[in-house]
Amino acid sequence: MKKMITAVCAALILIMTASAAYADYDISVRMDGITADDSQYVQFGDIKPVQLDSRTLVPARAMAEAAGMEVTWDQPTQTAILLLKIGLYSEKPIERYAAKAISMVNPPTPGLVPVDITAAIKLGSSTAVIRYNFRDSEGDYIAVGCEYEMVSKTILIDDGTLMLPIRDSMEIFGLTVGWNQDEMCAYVSVPETVTIPDNLKVIQNNGEGKYAPTAANSNEYTSYNYQDLINGGSGLSYAAENTAASVDEPSYENKGTYLGKFYITHYCPCEICNEGWGNNTAWAGEIVPGRTIGVNPDIIPPLSWVYIEGYGLRRAEDTGGGIGTYHIDIAVESHDLISTLETSYRDVYLVE
Ligand SMILES: [Zn+2]
Repeated sequence: MKKMITAVCAALILIMTASAAYADYDISVRMDGITADDSQYVQFGDIKPVQLDSRTLVPARAMAEAAGMEVTWDQPTQTAILLLKIGLYSEKPIERYAAKAISMVNPPTPGLVPVDITAAIKLGSSTAVIRYNFRDSEGDYIAVGCEYEMVSKTILIDDGTLMLPIRDSMEIFGLTVGWNQDEMCAYVSVPETVTIPDNLKVIQNNGEGKYAPTAANSNEYTSYNYQDLINGGSGLSYAAENTAASVDEPSYENKGTYLGKFYITHYCPCEICNEGWGNNTAWAGEIVPGRTIGVNPDIIPPLSWVYIEGYGLRRAEDTGGGIGTYHIDIAVESHDLISTLETSYRDVYLVE
């Protein structure tokens, strides 16, 4: 028996998976040794994976089930809860992996029984929460966890399907996610070495939303039109249109509005720097060394030009999980170059 979903609202329906053939240009998702030892392609229904800002988003229910997880929806906090069972002797590799992961967590008191691992991923928010859940002798849950900064956000498309960023929603569990650009295929696997976050602490449970984030405040999000996503934000045409776009640098009289001192690091278009996700930026096609910088979009608006003391004009075209708040990652030509460049703190201006 599949666990019934208890909280379903009219605005949000987690679409059930239906088997369907998909065309060549579609984004595919492969599970490598997740619920079985072999590789399996995830079967999606009417709603297929899409790309938004060069990140792949997948229908929550189909994705969760393919990954051997359960997904529920916590309406008060607008949060999707992915639940991963543990089982040291399970037939499913992912449940054996989960058992090893939770065994590495130091529970706050001895004698707690490990139960499961959950990820609370809130709609429209880039902050998720990973929890390693234990039960005490009285049956009460005790969660040990931490916040997790996502690269992308969970979105809702206008038929009510919740779309999870595949990379964030799997990496939060410590799983490995790769991307094959030629095949337009994202693949998920269990890492050889099991690791857990190093900043875990006891997290207060939150009433009915036992696994939900503590903050139940409302948040804003945009609903996306599926056809728009398919036409404009996914597939090969998107990649081709945006490849190495030429952009005119703005002229400027002064340096613009002072934004503050930023921590400056460097990256390049290589696989190491982009973790197998290709050399596409989040917002502007391919990485262009000398122009592209990775920024926190809450601080520097996407596609805006900034002046960095000592570097000159750069354009906010990229972001990533490693980008801090006042942090700019500057694209340079090659990986060898990175080790020769010092990190520093620089004054940064937003050019009008
Ligand atoms: Zn590199």
